[in-house]
Amino acid sequence: MATTRTALITGAASGIGAEIAQTLFREGCHVVIADRKEPDYLKSLSSADQQARFIPTDLSKQSDCQYLVEQALNEFEVIDILVNNAGFQHVSQLEDFPETVWENMLKVMLTAPFLLTKYVLPKMKQQGWGRIINMGSIHSQIASLNKVGYIAAKHGLVGLTKSTALEGGPFQITANVICPAYVRTPLVEQQIAAQAETLGISLEQVESEVFLKASATGKMIEPEEVAAMVSYLCSDQAKSITGVCWTIDGGWTAQ
Ligand code: NAD
Repeated sequence: MATTRTALITGAASGIGAEIAQTLFREGCHVVIADRKEPDYLKSLSSADQQARFIPTDLSKQSDCQYLVEQALNEFEVIDILVNNAGFQHVSQLEDFPETVWENMLKVMLTAPFLLTKYVLPKMKQQGWGRIINMGSIHSQIASLNKVGYIAAKHGLVGLTKSTALEGGPFQITANVICPAYVRTPLVEQQIAAQAETLGISLEQVESEVFLKASATGKMIEPEEVAAMVSYLCSDQAKSITGVCWTIDGGWTAQ
């Protein structure tokens, strides 16, 4: 990236978001990290020409979303890149799915991306350049059992992305959604451990026989693969790519 862009990444204290923040910093961006907890790598993001800021944020709260963008704009004037990445999982069949969890999932994984997009757009439009990347999932495209809140929120992100792409297009603002299958992060490691206990089999067996059952490549996806896609979508070469789901699934949905 030639210009020093400012990237705001949510859920960047862990997993995929942490990898994205570190990658964009390495590639020359200022980074604003929004999460409930401070990232342990924050101090390692050091450069004379770039800033790395952590703004403690609970994305389930509208007031936190608004404060986050106000603070970031005060310091950096414009947010060039918004990565709506934060998310969490809850596994339960539909009739037992707690209503409070459903509400919180939609707040964090659909309403917060809408709010942050709404708040960053005016300055992006003024400068005539922007990149919005929403972290969807293979569950933005297909369903699996017992994940109704996650699947509904992730499908909703596709609609948000397409709408943003249409409204942002005339201002050279692109919006895309990345749809990975299982990526090796704490979110998935917790699910593997829970399944191993339920099924009474080893972690390795759960990984290969349950999580990678539908994968043609038979490999867990690494966070670096997702960060590389973000990096490409943020580049000037990707200026005509917008409103699209980018599936990274080892061939799962080719079946
Ligand atoms: P992770 O659990 O490692 O990281 C998620 C981060 O989001 C955490 O740092 C957490 O603190 C933050 N977060 C959660 N709720 C928050 C809130 N209310 N306010 C602020 N921050 C909050 O998970 P991950 O695997 O890196 O997942 C990142 C994104 O990628 C999620 O949207 C997830 O749905 C998506 N995704 C993950 C996978 C996978 O297999 N790991 C696959 C497809 C999509």
